[in-house]
Amino acid sequence: MNPARLRALLDDFVEARPWSERIAADPVEFPHRYRDPRDVEVVALLAASLAYGRANLFKPKVAGILSGLGPSPAKALAALTVADARALLQGFVYRFNLPSDVAVLLLGMGRQLSLHGSLERAFLAGQGGGWQRTLANFAHGLRAAAPEREIIRQLGPVRGLHHLLPFAEAGAAKRLNLYLRWMVRGPDDIDFGIWRALSPAQLMIPLDTHVMRIARWLGLTRRSTIGWKTAEEVTASLRRLDPADPVRYDFALCHYGMSGACPARPVQANCRACPLRPECSVGRRLQR
Ligand code: SF4
Repeated sequence: MNPARLRALLDDFVEARPWSERIAADPVEFPHRYRDPRDVEVVALLAASLAYGRANLFKPKVAGILSGLGPSPAKALAALTVADARALLQGFVYRFNLPSDVAVLLLGMGRQLSLHGSLERAFLAGQGGGWQRTLANFAHGLRAAAPEREIIRQLGPVRGLHHLLPFAEAGAAKRLNLYLRWMVRGPDDIDFGIWRALSPAQLMIPLDTHVMRIARWLGLTRRSTIGWKTAEEVTASLRRLDPADPVRYDFALCHYGMSGACPARPVQANCRACPLRPECSVGRRLQR
């Protein structure tokens, strides 16, 4: 990888397209419906937490919960009771998650808002021990704040809470890192930049399957599995391109893959037209 050459290529790649047109296909669409920063941060965490699987499947689930929370989700969550959550989440099911999982997240957010005044301050209260530990502390803090026993008593068992919120030091914590990108970077057309106490330089790439394969082909990592160590390695490579804002290419790379422009199984015609080809090992190989 030649950092200067790759940075120039990626800068042109990002600037050449109106990436904000992809917002409708992204969970960031939900927080963009709100203006108050307190609403933005809670809606963003709900949307990011449920953003796994296909967008056309998880988006109606997020939309259904938001419609039940009314015009100010932050105010609604600060006053939410377990009985309210039971009514709100009646019949909810999304893959690994049952009503109790989502109730822990919603009531945890509500209690943290009441305690700290914002999710940003709740996050800052758990800072320390590195980025991975800080993310885990944030997730643990949300869970600890929720009246979990009462939730289980009224709504039934939790099932996929570990999937909804990454508590442990396993996996790349993609959705929590995505949430942090939204809150800390910017403001621009996509990210909000409303958490001012943190710097974009601290962020970790929200590593998903699309970003992973393009990162490998661009030489940002040699690792082949998605996990924390790979996310660290990709982020370290991106820091060599831009130490102040290493995850600024994330939205464009992710949507380049998601849209089919750079599919998992490379297509020669796509590679021929691809602006990243000069630095892509696959693109160069297909042109030989
Ligand atoms: S050259 Fe081909 S494989 Fe490489 S990033 Fe572009 S479309 Fe993807």
